[in-house]
Amino acid sequence: MILDAKIPEGPLADKWTRHKFNTKLVNPSNKRKYDIIVVGSGLAGGSAAASLAELGYNIKCFFFQDSPRRAHSIAAQGGINASKNYQNDGDSDYRLFYDTIKGGDYRSREANVYRLAEVSSSIIDQCVAQGVPFAREYGGLLANRSFGGAQVSRTFYARGQTGQQLLLGAYSALNRMVAAGKVELFPRTEMLDLVQVDGKARGIVARNLVTGEISSHSAHAVILATGGYGNVFYLSTNAMGSNATAAWRAHKRGAAFANPCFTQIHPTCIPVSGHYQSKLTLMSESLRNDGRVWVPKKGMKGLTAKDALMLPEEDRDYYLERRYPSFGNLVPRDVASRNAKIVCDDGRGVGASGLAVFLDFADAIKRDGRDVIEAKYGNLFDMYKQITDDNPYEVPMMIYPAVHYTMGGLWVDYNLMTTIPGLYALGECNFSDHGANRLGASALMQGLADGYFVIPNTIGDYLSGMMGNNVSTDHEAFKKVEEEVRLNIDKLMNIKGTKTVDDFHKELGHIMWDYCGMSRNEKDLKKAKAKIHGLRQNYWKDLTVIGSSEELNMSLEKANRVADFLELGEVMIDDALMRTESCGGHFREESQTQEGEALRKDDDFSFVAAWAYQGKDQQEILHKEHLHFENVKLTQRSYK
Ligand SMILES: Cc1cc2nc3c(=O)[nH]c(=O)nc-3n(C[C@H](O)[C@H](O)[C@H](O)COP(=O)(O)OP(=O)(O)OC[C@H]3O[C@@H](n4cnc5c(N)ncnc54)[C@H](O)[C@@H]3O)c2cc1C
Repeated sequence: MILDAKIPEGPLADKWTRHKFNTKLVNPSNKRKYDIIVVGSGLAGGSAAASLAELGYNIKCFFFQDSPRRAHSIAAQGGINASKNYQNDGDSDYRLFYDTIKGGDYRSREANVYRLAEVSSSIIDQCVAQGVPFAREYGGLLANRSFGGAQVSRTFYARGQTGQQLLLGAYSALNRMVAAGKVELFPRTEMLDLVQVDGKARGIVARNLVTGEISSHSAHAVILATGGYGNVFYLSTNAMGSNATAAWRAHKRGAAFANPCFTQIHPTCIPVSGHYQSKLTLMSESLRNDGRVWVPKKGMKGLTAKDALMLPEEDRDYYLERRYPSFGNLVPRDVASRNAKIVCDDGRGVGASGLAVFLDFADAIKRDGRDVIEAKYGNLFDMYKQITDDNPYEVPMMIYPAVHYTMGGLWVDYNLMTTIPGLYALGECNFSDHGANRLGASALMQGLADGYFVIPNTIGDYLSGMMGNNVSTDHEAFKKVEEEVRLNIDKLMNIKGTKTVDDFHKELGHIMWDYCGMSRNEKDLKKAKAKIHGLRQNYWKDLTVIGSSEELNMSLEKANRVADFLELGEVMIDDALMRTESCGGHFREESQTQEGEALRKDDDFSFVAAWAYQGKDQQEILHKEHLHFENVKLTQRSYK
């Protein structure tokens, strides 16, 4: 497998402009002769489908929810970054680029990240033009707040509902094109496989989730914008339906999967409350603008939020402010999460489980007044109260890290094309811009950059060579894949074992969290590999799926998805085992500084790990895309 990232020549700041100039174009009147499949209607897929349709291409957009507005992107709370520098606090494209590269612990491509920073301002303009109600300053300019890993305020927001408002913008743009007859929507339809003809992606096989009907769809190119795979850990902040199936099945058809072990564990989530829980809730990172993180100096397991009010200042340890005076509570997520784990492992965690730390707004409320805090975070405070029955205006919140985002994903080149010609991956589904740790508010930026600004400019280069190359779903390649999809479903239905999908999923989640979570070591990873392998074998012997395949059957939907999580889990472990350095969210206990910070090994690991599928039960093969840093100097990340 050749990993050609197709990074354009020339100075960093000129690459994207040059690339657009050198890219082949499709003449406007010819665009209507091309069909493009977009799988996903979240911020990445919705924006791509709308923009490509606006250009004149015919789009079929698939998603498993009943409306594009229910894509997981709706859950995004805190904001979206852009280097507008409205604050005059020293921001620039270069600073956003630099912070993102550094935040990702130098494991992402310079050229991609610079482009992301470069188009970030256009995203805000586009969204404002669509009517997205970003918060504003008294003078009318858009307001900004700070997010982790940056010393400027560049995060645009709409209270704690930024994802929802951005998605409504993309949805309006998409609907305009539906009305114009340029986009056909396929709700409640799940892609189950990719179809290739002559080595090129030419369509998909999908299942109607309401009727169970299996159908084929052809196109000149296929775009996957299917989100992240954090639910491999069972408990995560992701929507319950988020899954890896589209990306994983494309991987099994030849698309390389990059950096699968790079998982983001978000420091501020509502702690796990019990065994029957199936979902975790994020408390936005924006809260760390005003909330102070602390634990008691001495272990006080069981300490409640109410009791915490009595604890004098001198008995509290504001450990982030103490250890990282320049970034304080706004250190990046990987650093904040690891530190929460350290204090809890030290026996200083609070709450009934001892696996929680406080996020305290008392000082902010005293300083700014309750009204100001309510205006900024009101909906988040309400959500917290409804879930925990504690009132965060009166007592500190309790938080703990939880799985939140996956930096790994399908390998893509600068054009966002995977290793399968004609197959593209956008948004969280690809691995592209965040390296080993994503900075807050940069996923929305990346998804919308990919959909509104990158893919409309890059896809023409490929499509221009596909003129007149039409393929029908009668082609035998479609029949063959359809048959395989049916057989796989029959196989799942006919196991008729004793354990539910959730039983297996939970067990997988425990293994992943315990051995491949916030910190990892060789011994445990090897143990995890054997356990997952055993679990996967057992899955195909002892799973029970109720109902039939010709109806709405959520048990079957999950069974398909968990089968893929089990395979992906093993490759995540392989990846974590192979990378014996620590970087970003991937903390190998064997590789840490004396102060317990992540210790990279740049000479050995400055590469993207791209895994290639070799067939059922075969060890995947690792390919390396070496990363070249010409504009930033690799240093030990410091937020002190
Ligand atoms: C609680 C929470 C809060 C967050 N807050 C922020 C924030 O403030 N700022 C920020 O930058 N990031 C935030 N993030 C991250 C960000 O929301 C996501 O990374 C981003 O929205 C992903 O967008 P996407 O378009 O790539 O995928 P998604 O929004 O997950 O959309 C995936 C789409 O693919 C479809 N799909 C998936 N598989 C299939 C299939 N097999 N067949 C058919 N359709 C399929 C789904 O139906 C859906 O339409 C947050 C994440 C969480 C969990």
